[in-house]
Parts: sequence; structure tokens; C-alpha cells
Amino acid sequence: NMDTSNIIGKQSIIEGQAEIRVSSEKVFYNPVQEFNRDLSIAVLSVFINDYRKEKAFKKCEKLKSEGIDFEDSHDIPVTILEALSATGLRSIRYAKEVSNVTKIIANDLSEQAVETIKDNIVYNSVDNVIETSHDDACMLMYKHKHHSKRFTAIDLDPYGCPSIFLDSAVQSVQDGGLLLVTATDMAVLAGNSPETCYVKYGAISLKTKCCHEMALRILLQSIEHHANRYSRFIEPILSISADFYIRVFVKIYSGAFHCKKTTSKLSMVYQCVGCDNLTLQPLGAFKPNPTEKNPDQVKSFLPSVPPVGEFCVHCNQRHHLGGPIWSAPIHNVDFVSRVLNHVEENSHKFGTAKRIQGILSMVQEELQDTPLYYILDKLFGRVHLETMPMLRMRSAILNAGYQVSFSHAAKLSIKTNAPAHIIWDIIRTW
Ligand code: SAM
Repeated sequence: NMDTSNIIGKQSIIEGQAEIRVSSEKVFYNPVQEFNRDLSIAVLSVFINDYRKEKAFKKCEKLKSEGIDFEDSHDIPVTILEALSATGLRSIRYAKEVSNVTKIIANDLSEQAVETIKDNIVYNSVDNVIETSHDDACMLMYKHKHHSKRFTAIDLDPYGCPSIFLDSAVQSVQDGGLLLVTATDMAVLAGNSPETCYVKYGAISLKTKCCHEMALRILLQSIEHHANRYSRFIEPILSISADFYIRVFVKIYSGAFHCKKTTSKLSMVYQCVGCDNLTLQPLGAFKPNPTEKNPDQVKSFLPSVPPVGEFCVHCNQRHHLGGPIWSAPIHNVDFVSRVLNHVEENSHKFGTAKRIQGILSMVQEELQDTPLYYILDKLFGRVHLETMPMLRMRSAILNAGYQVSFSHAAKLSIKTNAPAHIIWDIIRTW
């Protein structure tokens, strides 16, 4: 449903319910990101609904205890910051297509971009919802870090790497609010430049077949690390690898105590240089301690898994060491299924509805507690064998008593909780 045509020197672009006009070639617009914007609208719609209900319930409980009646979620303000807005298209679409948004700030450092945003919000009659801001994204977010000024949601959609914006962003989202982050520097995240990845994200990337999911897990680890500094932590609700970028949607919560659980959500990754086998080594572990007064109390101790040896147990070669990565779940399946329902019910409103439905259905099926995956043909290619049909491979894993799924991040992916020796045994039978 995207149409571009020339109106008196300006390019007119229709996407969703927005029509924007761009007169300067210096203002960034990428039609390929329509999927990213559609998906973000669907996620925000479901998220904001949940958020308002939750906050209204809390407010209601509080007021009831003071003897006041309150049952209206309409009194819950919802504010969104698009910190890197370019044409304003995304903010305009949020204003027109996401219900119950009180205020949106569309910010950009470029003066030309801000002029374009101003024109476009008037042209789309959303100047009552969207305010423009001409500021450095970090400076603007720091001005909003006090909890009375925080945003319900912050969207970061930079060129390349988002890391310089994370410190201010994790401080300026409300408790239980949403941070939406795009990263397009896939070469860095996918192992072409592990040192740069460490410098930017605080984790070493690896050249591995599952690099797209590894990229998601490196970004999530990085956001968690930034949040932890301020006694905050994340809950990833949806993490997507698509085209040339990754996009994560994470809730941010406050709680120094919960931050102690972070090490148990992170792992180092050992990659065998011979057979490519990956072994995860958790950074920490915790278990509930029922003797404590607080039932949520956790006891920290060192990882209980045996350390990864110097040589790979399958082929006796050495390892590369990558990570740390986020090794806890990267989606909230219940949330994903509600986003899927929302898109099914409103499919006529999304130009990329079919694609969203396809990807979210795969996301729902993914084994949530099993990080990373194999790629079928690469696995067999490693030992110079013809590739086994996917169906047969999956049946063999199931017959051996383990679970298996695809990953949305790669064709021919095999996500499984079967130990590597079972996979090699299956390959030997071929
Ligand atoms: N979100 C937009 C969309 O969906 O169409 C695209 C954003 S574009 C990839 C990145 C924008 O960030 C550019 O317009 C650029 O001017 C702006 N930018 C770069 N550095 C910035 C900074 N430090 N603060 C604010 N804006 C910045």
C-alpha cells in the first residue's frame, strides 16, 4: 500500500495512514523499513493496552485504599519519544494508527529533518499529538530521566549501531515501559569484526551459522548491562531479525534486587574451530531460597555446569570464545500471540501483514528456552555429506526424545535441546 509520486518538487509517500512529503534528499526515508514500522505499530498497540490496564489497576487499588473510586484507564497518560525521527513518518503513523497515545515527541538533530517533520505533522493533522524537538537524542533523553518526566515508550532507530543512545534511553523509560531498538550494523554483530563488537556492545561476536540470533542476544545483553547500572533490568517481549537489521522490544523495570539475577541470564559462548559446535557457559546461577522471608529471594552461587574444556569433546579442536550473550528467553510468547491476533484482526491496515503473520507464527513456535541453532546444510557440509531432508532430521531428534523447532532468523534452522553428541549420532546414521 505504499505509493510514491512527485508533487511540485516534493516526493509524496503514502504508508499506512500517513502521507508524508520529503523535499530534501538529505532527509532519510527507507521504504524497506515499512515492515519495521508496521510491526512496531502492532507491538505498541498491544503493549499500550496492557500498560494502561496495569497502571489503572494499580491506581485503582491505591485510590480504593484511600476511599476514592477510580476505574478509568483513560486517565493513564501514554507518551512516546521517537528519538531519531528523520521525516516524522514513524511518529505520524504512531499518532494515527496506535490508539490511546497522549503525546509523541519526534526528535532529530538535523535542522532539515525537523523542518520536514513540522510540515508533515501539519499536513497529516496530527499537530495536536506530536511535538517536534530539535536536539541531540541523548541530551533530550537525559532531560527526561526523572521519573515524573519519563516516557511510556522510546523508539531508537539510528543509522547503524544504537549503543551511544542506550545509557540515556534506559534511564528515561517509565517502570514497565517499552524500549524499541533497531541495529543495522550487522557485520559487526555477526562476527566480521569481533573487536569492534566488544567496543560497541561489550560482547565478542562470532562468525557462526546462528549469527542473526547471536546478534539479537548481544544487543539484549548490552541493553541489560546499561540498565543494570541504574538498578533497572529488561524483559525482552519480541526480538526480530529481518532483512539487514535486528529489532528488539524490551520492557524496562526498576529493582536492584532483581538485577542480582542478571548473571544467570547471560552466557559465554565457546565455538569449536573444528566442528563449529557451540557450548554455552552461564555466567552465574540462582535458585529460590525458601528459608528466606522474601519468597522471591535468590541465592547466588557460581555456575553449576562443568567448565568447557580446552578441547572440543567432539573433534578435539580448540575453541573461540564469544559473548557474553543474553541466554534467557528473547520473546514473551503470550505477548507475541496477542500481537499476532491484533495483526490478523487488522490485516487490512498493515501493508506487510502477511509477512508479520509469517514471522510471528515462527517466533511463537521457537523453543523459548533453547538459545541459538544449527543450520541443516552447514551441519552436513562440515562433514562433507549430502544434506539429510529436514523432515527426517527433525523426526530423528524427536524420536531420540528431544524437542526441535525452526528459528525465524534463518532458513533451514534447527533449534533443539538435544545435546550435540545426539546430533552427531544422527548424522552418523545418514
Ligand atoms: N526512524 C526513522 C524512520 O522510521 O523513518 C529513520 C531514522 S534515520 C535511520 C536516523 C536519523 O537520526 C537521521 O534523521 C539523523 O539525522 C538522526 N540523528 C543522527 N544522530 C542523531 C542524534 N545524536 N540525535 C538526534 N538525531 C540524530
